[in-house]
Amino acid sequence: MRFVVLSGPSGSGKTTIVQHLIEKCPVKLIKSVSATTRPARPHEVEGDHYYFLSKEEFASRRAADEFLECAEVHSSGNWYGTLKSEVSRARELGGCALLEIDVQGARQVIDHCSRALTIFVKTAEDGEYERRLRARGTESDAVIQSRLETARRELAQAKAYRHQVVNDDLDRAVAEMIGHIQAWEKENHD
Ligand code: ADP
Ligand code: 5GP
Repeated sequence: MRFVVLSGPSGSGKTTIVQHLIEKCPVKLIKSVSATTRPARPHEVEGDHYYFLSKEEFASRRAADEFLECAEVHSSGNWYGTLKSEVSRARELGGCALLEIDVQGARQVIDHCSRALTIFVKTAEDGEYERRLRARGTESDAVIQSRLETARRELAQAKAYRHQVVNDDLDRAVAEMIGHIQAWEKENHD
């Protein structure tokens, strides 16, 4: 199975980049819809942005081995995970599964599939995460602080990824990623 795994601190621009990759990448990418126990943000749609599960349902599906990977993210008490059924969906649609997941989840995926393409997204300056999260305006101060703490831990893992991409100029970052995905596709499937 082919996986492209994208990680990076909150505010690095992962969600924005994923939308552009799905539209522009010549390699067919199918975005894996994650399950989470966190509450939906006002604009978020069930089954599109996430599958929103109660903590009980998440735990019981985890016990039933339904997840390819899962982790408690941001020490928030909220769990996030990739359902195996999402990977089957990508395969049925004839594409590569695109997973936007945290560093703990990425490690689990690499254990299952060492040929996964892993890309870490970051900003040119560390202060930019906070600026973007404040500008996005979707989290409280306390949540932003916890995400910035997680960001420091995540940045320390960046070297474990095959590529690191700096998202200062969005179009340039997307083009760089498309280059990495095309090269990986060629290397693995020629
Ligand atoms: P993440 O999914 O990594 O938390 P988002 O994609 O939500 O990040 O991006 C965080 C905020 O930064 C959003 O408001 C987004 O519009 C903005 N953003 C994304 N990429 C850039 C960029 N290259 N330059 C400036 N702002 C950006
Ligand atoms: P958010 O709450 O902003 O949507 O996402 C918070 C974090 O959860 C991000 O770092 C994102 O990469 C991570 N995340 C989203 N889905 C998954 C998933 O399925 N598995 C794991 N391990 N992390 C995820």
